[in-house]
This record gives sequence, structure tokens and C-alpha cells, in this order.
Amino acid sequence: MAIATINPATGETIKTFEALTEAEVKEKIALAQATFENYRKIPLAQRSEWLRTAAEILERDRRQYAELMVLEMGKPIKGAIAEVEKCALVCRYYADNAAEFLADTPVPSDGNSFIRYQPLGIILAVMPWNFPFWQVCRFAAPALMAGNVGLLKHASNVPQCAIALETIFKEAGFPEGAFQTLLVGGDRVEAIVNDDRVMAATLTGSEPAGASLAAAAGKQIKKTVLELGGSDPFIVLESADLEKAATTATAARMLNNGQSCIAAKRFIVVESIADAFEAKIIEKFNALKIGDPMAEDTDIGPLATPSILQEIDENVQKSVAMGAKVLTGGERLQDRPGNYYPPTILAEIPEGSPAEKEEFFGPVASVFRVKNLAEAIARANAIPFGLGASVWTNVAEERDRAIEEIEAGAVFVNGMVKSDPRLPFGGIKRSGYGRELGQPGIREFVNIKTIWIA
Ligand code: NAP
Repeated sequence: MAIATINPATGETIKTFEALTEAEVKEKIALAQATFENYRKIPLAQRSEWLRTAAEILERDRRQYAELMVLEMGKPIKGAIAEVEKCALVCRYYADNAAEFLADTPVPSDGNSFIRYQPLGIILAVMPWNFPFWQVCRFAAPALMAGNVGLLKHASNVPQCAIALETIFKEAGFPEGAFQTLLVGGDRVEAIVNDDRVMAATLTGSEPAGASLAAAAGKQIKKTVLELGGSDPFIVLESADLEKAATTATAARMLNNGQSCIAAKRFIVVESIADAFEAKIIEKFNALKIGDPMAEDTDIGPLATPSILQEIDENVQKSVAMGAKVLTGGERLQDRPGNYYPPTILAEIPEGSPAEKEEFFGPVASVFRVKNLAEAIARANAIPFGLGASVWTNVAEERDRAIEEIEAGAVFVNGMVKSDPRLPFGGIKRSGYGRELGQPGIREFVNIKTIWIA
């Protein structure tokens, strides 16, 4: 894939970039390694101060960064501004809490024993385009606080975001080499992982990319964290507040033009309320405003690339050909350039169709009718993913059973699955492993060193 800014709303190529040469990549790794030797000794209080400055820069220039994201990947501007603000939040969260998360932890034993948390060195972050700032900041803030240095290989369609992020951390005061962007394609990742100076890697993206990175790292005995795809269930039971559930369902499916790993994708509804729920979401989906992602009142902008549009379209057509019923949408928009796809709801989902088991990375909802909670949980668990899940009920026993039995990295009750700096984030099954955010997030890339003194 070319490294380029291509406006998804128009298809226009705005700017192209040359990939770094092998020698240039080696130079950057050498700089990162040299920086690490000193950076690891810098007191936490100083790292916190730089991270707080990064938060101020993000807030100061929020509009500029938000517009860059809109230009490169098409998310609506109001969501882009909120994303930049959330990046400032995660920087402050780790600036405030890292000292506690990384403090020596006493452990009772037959000696004087404790755990110390020490940085590993260079961590490679391979990141996706869907939240170009947030995905990077939620890696960078804990990594830098822990004393590691970061190399960012961002998605090839968001190069200007990648460059802006490096500039922000530099301007904030972090030493040259503490956080660097590598403009290279995905095919160059394995060589970087193979470099002895790179100690570990994290990837957020698709299953094939995650499997490829993990295989390369596995050969080198290097740790990885993988944040991969999901097809989160959104279960609505009889006692739910239907209006609230339908409003949240719409937001949870449509966030980021439907291109979020934790978007609700499969709506699993008990039969007794299914007609009413469907009627409500049809109305709410149809009320969304499709338009220019730079406009403040736009709800749905274009998908990030033509290939995502094509994949969504093909998967919808295939599901419909197999017997799925279209409740709204379901056809590409012909009246405008750019990668637009309308909010779509599919029901009567056939076994084996893409709508049943695959991740729809766009504004398409699949509705499944079930008899009861047991069937809902079975349906929720019947896919290879396990990222998040949302359950709507006001019955305590139902809530407790769903929390216990749903196979996912997170269960949100009567609310939308979301990422929050304070809450650990990650998946099970083919959604990946390891955790970002919260205290577990900063402990992923450290040497958990056991100390025992007689
Ligand atoms: P993708 O194609 O896997 O790209 C993600 C990153 O991986 C990009 O930087 C890409 O570089 C790189 N890459 C691609 N192939 C690679 C390979 N063989 N080896 C190493 N790196 C490789 O993913 P996407 O389609 O952009 O993103 C959508 C997916 O990400 C969805 O499945 C979504 O659910 C998932 N996601 C998960 C989370 C989470 O936290 N769990 C969050 C956001 C998104 P190039 O751009 O240069 O190809």
C-alpha cells in the first residue's frame, strides 16, 4: 500500500511519501537505542511533566489534529475533536498514576522480597488508521512513562497523523529518539522485529497482520500484545429500557462511520421485544446525516478506503443473496464521490453468511432474534472473536449470568462498550491478547523483576 494521504470524501490524492530506506530505519533504531540508555534513568516526575505538556499541546491544537484525521481517514469532525481530547486524558492519566503503578511492590516470603518494574527498551507499535491519534497515545503514554522508547509504524493511509504525533512528543520535551515515526509499509515490519535492539511489539489491526507480527516476534522470543478485530454482541432482553437501548445501539454501531473494533455489530434481541427494537433502530439509523466529514452536523462520513467500501458492499450483497433481509440501506450510494456507504440493518441472518460471523467494518448492523438469555449468550459466544459485549437488562440474575458466561475482554451492562484510560482494554480468542490502559496496560512492557534479600 502506498504511503499517502488520500481524501476518502473525494478520492483525491493530497500528498504521497517515500518509504524510509533500510539504512534510514537502522539509523532511527540506533538513535532509539542510544536514547533509551539515558532515558531509562530520567526520573518519573520529569517524564510526567513532559507527558502533561504533550496533553496541553494536544488540547491547544485539537482542531488542527482533528482536521488531519478527517482529511486522511474520513471520520466526522466532532468525533475527531473528541478523540484528540481523549488523547490528552490518557497522557494525564499515566502522568498522574504511573508512579503508583510502577512502585516497588512488597511480596511476603521467607526473605525481604519485592517486585520492581523496569523498562525493556525499544517497543515497536504497529497501529491502524481508524483512531489514528487515540490508538497511538494509548500505547505511547504508558510506554514512555515506564521508561521505554517507542517506534511507531502507523497505517500507510495516515502518514501525516503519524508525523504529527512524533512532533507532539518532541515539542513536549521528550528527548530526540524517545518516540519516532517510521514511514514504512506493513511488509517491512518483520525486518524491524528481527532487529536485536527491538525488545517487544504491539499491534492493533486485523487478524492476518497480528498473526504475521506474532509469528515474527515468536521466532525471536519477543513479547507481543495484539489488539485485533471484534464482532461485539449487543444483547437486549425484555426488561431493558428499549428507547435508551436503541439510541445507544445506534451510537455504538455508527461510531467512527462504523469502523471501530468495539462497535456493537451483532444485535441479539429476545423475540418478545424484537419488532419494537427493530422499528426504533430503523428510525434512528435513517435519521443520521450522511455528508462531508468536515461539517459539524455530519453523523456519517465516508469509509476510510475504497477497499473497505468494497468489502462491506460485497459482504452485504453476499448475505442478502443467501437470504438476509434488508431493513434499511443495503445499497451503495451512487449520488456522490468518495467511499460512502449508508447505515444498513440486516435481519433474518442466514447460517454461514458473512453477516453471521464476520466483522463488518462499516455502518452495517445484523439483528438476530433469540428466545431467551441462554440462547443470546450462546449466539454471542458462537464466533471466534471475544473483544467486548453490551447487555441490556434490569434483572440482576440475568445481568450476573451474562457477566459470568459471555466470552469477551469486557462486558458493559446497560451501556455502550467504550475505551477509558482507567479501564483495562483488550480481547480473548481471535481478538488478541494482552491489555492496554489502566494499570495492566503499563505493566505489559516492563521487566517484572523479583528481588529477594536474605
Ligand atoms: P491492518 O490492515 O491489519 O493494518 C493495521 C496495521 O498493521 C497497519 O499499520 C498496517 O500497515 C500493518 N500491517 C498490515 N499487514 C501487516 C503485516 N503482514 N505485518 C505487519 N504489519 C502489518 O488493519 P486495518 O484494516 O487497517 O484495521 C482494521 C482492523 O483493526 C479491524 O479488524 C479492527 O477491528 C481492528 N482494530 C482493533 C482494535 C483493538 O483495539 N482491538 C482497535 C482498532 C482496530 P499498512 O497500513 O502499511 O498495511
